[in-house]
Amino acid sequence: MNAHSPRNTNESLFARAQKTTPGGVNSPVRAFRSVGGTPRFITKAQGPYFWDAEERRYIDYIGSWGPAIVGHAHPKVVQAVQEAAARGLSFGAPTEGEIDMAEEICKLVPSIEQVRLVSSGTEATMSALRLARGATRRDKIVKFEGCYHGHADSLLVKAGSGLLTFGNPTSSGVPEDFVKHTLVLDYNNTQQLEEAFKAAGNEIACVIVEPVAGNMNLVPATAEFLQTMRRLCTEYGAILIFDEVMSGFRVALGGAQSLYGIAPDLTALGKVIGGGLPVAAFGGRADIMKHLAPLGGVYQAGTLSGNPVAVAAGLTTLRIIQEAGFYERLSAQTRKLADGLGDAARDAGVTFSADTLGGMFGLYFSAAVPTSYAEVMQGDKERFNVFFHAMLDQGVYLAPSAFEAGFVSAQHDDAVIAETLVAARTAFAEIA
Ligand code: PLP
Repeated sequence: MNAHSPRNTNESLFARAQKTTPGGVNSPVRAFRSVGGTPRFITKAQGPYFWDAEERRYIDYIGSWGPAIVGHAHPKVVQAVQEAAARGLSFGAPTEGEIDMAEEICKLVPSIEQVRLVSSGTEATMSALRLARGATRRDKIVKFEGCYHGHADSLLVKAGSGLLTFGNPTSSGVPEDFVKHTLVLDYNNTQQLEEAFKAAGNEIACVIVEPVAGNMNLVPATAEFLQTMRRLCTEYGAILIFDEVMSGFRVALGGAQSLYGIAPDLTALGKVIGGGLPVAAFGGRADIMKHLAPLGGVYQAGTLSGNPVAVAAGLTTLRIIQEAGFYERLSAQTRKLADGLGDAARDAGVTFSADTLGGMFGLYFSAAVPTSYAEVMQGDKERFNVFFHAMLDQGVYLAPSAFEAGFVSAQHDDAVIAETLVAARTAFAEIA
């Protein structure tokens, strides 16, 4: 059936999808389980908008969960993709575009001396972990509660019952034997980090962290937390991995590491660097990257790694975001949105706070911006769900979960923000 057929509704497509696809979606959060209701099936997108199967237009604040930073279907990106596609879709042999892409990444993120392209953020973090373990010849890793690094086995882990009890799987199918090497600590808890290193520092291969957490809503790390992490990793010979799959080229041109002035040993990137097509990357110190095959013994590979069409989209996106004033404008628009939402909530008497960093924002149904996973979890999820649906009904698409960050694109101009805020006033009035 034609996707634009008037006979399609979101509900009819969802019913059809569930027959052949588990839960009707290809990534769980899309199913609206957390907020309830029927997922919207998208037929097209342009600039700050997308349209569903019922031809309803939405202002889009998820931007494909981060990649759409220049807005949907940007003419330069579309042209680059069309031209690349016409030259062939995939070769399984190197291309000059991959060199251009690697050079651009190394230029923009100076802690990355060498980089390897992969096709998803999960691949990037999974490969960075293996590399860290291979380079240090250690097995244990440290991650933080509330950070998401994709769905590799060692990373789908939540905290155990004590500081040095290793974690519990957050997914069935992950063997206990895998996660016994993963130590899960509290985000932004510097003292606990120090204690963990004191107790087991010489066995730790790496620490992996979202320097700006975007998977428990938006929670930036404190400078002290990241500085301590950097110092401890250096002292104990552990590798510091910044997972900037979300924050990279999103909170600033040089990623979160440029804001904090901290150089990790390895960085994982994704989302923005693919401009909407599947490109991700991991890279860092050349003396660590040299352990990768074909130079060293750490194996990593990919049939579609550095795919020429995907690289064309990513490279063009990376060039657009370097245009003068790009991040100043993006940050200002995102701030305008958050401030306007804050004003609307206050006028309606709703307990609410909002925070932004670059083109990323967090909305919290709590009096203060949270600084830890525990505080995020105390937010009023029921109120978020009512707000989400009230906004959706008025054509504003927020992330369908109280625990996800939101994203603004360069195409969210004043008129788009103003339309959002009119909807928000109605939505807050519904909650009050
Ligand atoms: N790391 C972070 C910080 C992410 O936010 C995500 C996805 O949202 C990933 C890794 C996994 O990336 P992907 O979904 O491309 O596998």
